[in-house]
Amino acid sequence: MSDATPVNASDQSAEHTQLTNPTLVLNCGSSSIKYALISEDKSTRITGLAENLGLDTARIKYTTLEGEKLEITIPGGRHELALKKILELLEQYQFVAVGHRVVHGGREYSKAVRVDEHVLSEVKRLKILAPLHNPANALGIEAVQAIYPDIPQVVVFDTAFHQTMPPVAYRYPIPSVLYEEEKIRRYGFHGTSHAYVSERASQITDTKGPHGWLTAHLGNGCSATAIYDGESLDTSMGLTPLEGLMMGTRSGDVDPGLHIHLKRLLGMSLEEIDKMLNSESGLLGISGLSNDLRTVEQAANEGHKDAQLAIEMFSYRVGKYLASLSCALPVFTGIIFTGGIGENSATTRARILDVMRHFGVKFSADKNKALVGGSEGSFQDDDSPVELWVIPTDEERQIAKETRQTLGL
Ligand code: AMP
Repeated sequence: MSDATPVNASDQSAEHTQLTNPTLVLNCGSSSIKYALISEDKSTRITGLAENLGLDTARIKYTTLEGEKLEITIPGGRHELALKKILELLEQYQFVAVGHRVVHGGREYSKAVRVDEHVLSEVKRLKILAPLHNPANALGIEAVQAIYPDIPQVVVFDTAFHQTMPPVAYRYPIPSVLYEEEKIRRYGFHGTSHAYVSERASQITDTKGPHGWLTAHLGNGCSATAIYDGESLDTSMGLTPLEGLMMGTRSGDVDPGLHIHLKRLLGMSLEEIDKMLNSESGLLGISGLSNDLRTVEQAANEGHKDAQLAIEMFSYRVGKYLASLSCALPVFTGIIFTGGIGENSATTRARILDVMRHFGVKFSADKNKALVGGSEGSFQDDDSPVELWVIPTDEERQIAKETRQTLGL
């Protein structure tokens, strides 16, 4: 692209071989589009990110196969133009398939599926369950269809992995008619991440299967899942990604009576309450500082009381949830930490395990501290009844894998 500007020096450390028969993985969000182009053997990839969509500052930051980091602007910041530019940038690599991350697959989809007109209309229809995400996901599918009508596309749903949950876990104790006619139930999210890290742990552990894992995906969004023999049996997120753990800006569980109370007390509208619970709560709401744990940890270390409370609440709620999710497992092999916090904050992992002290978990503080910055490994002591793993998540790799499997490539 002639209008691309270099951002940084070349990344000499990257391994640059061939992108053989690559799969394009697209994650189209409401204000950003992430992509990864992953070779057939999954050993090589290039990535990019369109950000600030909808604003004049919209741009695509990307890395070439040679490791050069470049940036181009997107005048007007429209999603469609960003997608068109991304596809132009990637045309030279001759991708053979496209896999889309789609947030909501409702009750209809329990696995990845090839895109046809019906699937596309279902992705659009399910915006009732994911109003911010599914429409952006559909735009991505249509952009590829318009430019490359012959390239097969697959949608990989965030909810699909959790479709194995039994009714005892996925139903809410509210009148059945709301489930039967309006599909009000628990769906769960982050499915590709929970699937990836649990499969990976089952591959690398010395313990014979079937395994029972508790996976803790702790990032800006957070969820925990109980997985037995590769199947999700219960998870912390529900009808929407607001249920469950305390997150960066999301509250997680609150009393369902809170809405009516705030309406009566402060005259708040449902929209105001929704915004407060999704965008102004969690680590940000309690610390009053940031949704980023690094900022909150630094303030806590300097004696900031609200930051200290935010971290304690975060860890307490994760530990309490993991303990309760263990009830879903026929056997309890271990806990897997992933996501930006799970992969990097050894102190948060230690706090969570301290909350779960009655499980008799034993671990090496040094091994725990060493597992940061993208390293993978276990840190339990030999006599610990439960294994403890840090496994960096790789949702793009999982989506590329499921895309190829669905297409029989
Ligand atoms: P994710 O959504 O998975 O990208 O995770 C993002 C979050 O991970 C950030 O908001 C931080 O709170 C957290 N995080 C990333 N790196 C670190 C770190 N070194 N220490 C503590 N938290 C971190």
